[in-house]
Amino acid sequence: MALNARLDHRNPLVFDTHELGRRPGAQQRLTRSVDAPKDLGIKGVVGVPEGAPVELEIRLESVMEGVLVTSTARALAKGECVRCLEPLELDLEADFQELFSYPDADDRGRPVAEPADDAEDDEDRLFIEDGLFDLEPVLRDAVVLALPMQPVCRDDCPGLCSECGERLADAPDHHHDAVDIRWAALQGLAGSLEDGEKDEMSGAEPGVDEKQEK
Ligand SMILES: [Zn+2]
Ligand SMILES: [Zn+2]
Repeated sequence: MALNARLDHRNPLVFDTHELGRRPGAQQRLTRSVDAPKDLGIKGVVGVPEGAPVELEIRLESVMEGVLVTSTARALAKGECVRCLEPLELDLEADFQELFSYPDADDRGRPVAEPADDAEDDEDRLFIEDGLFDLEPVLRDAVVLALPMQPVCRDDCPGLCSECGERLADAPDHHHDAVDIRWAALQGLAGSLEDGEKDEMSGAEPGVDEKQEK
């Protein structure tokens, strides 16, 4: 991450810190509406469609080692219900905070308060390059965290019938005659056996017969 391709200030997710300056304590607030980048969300599950508007509220704060960025992103995410597979939309709100370090901050020692789980990988550090930083990877992580891994169209979505796939919310009385299904399965099995073995089998598994008669 340290040596990205050069950042492009025309990229709407690239921010300029020149105006903020490097005096610790200086702050700047921004709002920006950007088009969602590709794959913003949980792939194949739920996400913000590419090009859909993402509203960003951002606070930049100059600190000793870089710029602390605090942001809220709002967008409409789309996906499908994991139970009934119907399309769904949900209002996404993701809050995040990230430190972008000055490239020369390393020379003066790393920030001491860095959490232990980040400590081993320099790759996770984000840098300011030529006064610019790229919010995209941070936004992406925050959006993924804010989205449900198992989105449902409503909390009590009954899902699909496990026998035939019918959407149960549309058919509250939907059911199958379980006895018939089991008999059919047994008949199929019996038909594939030799006549002599049929008697033997039904005698050997009384438990199965008992259930089928319910
Ligand atoms: Zn559903
Ligand atoms: Zn069914």
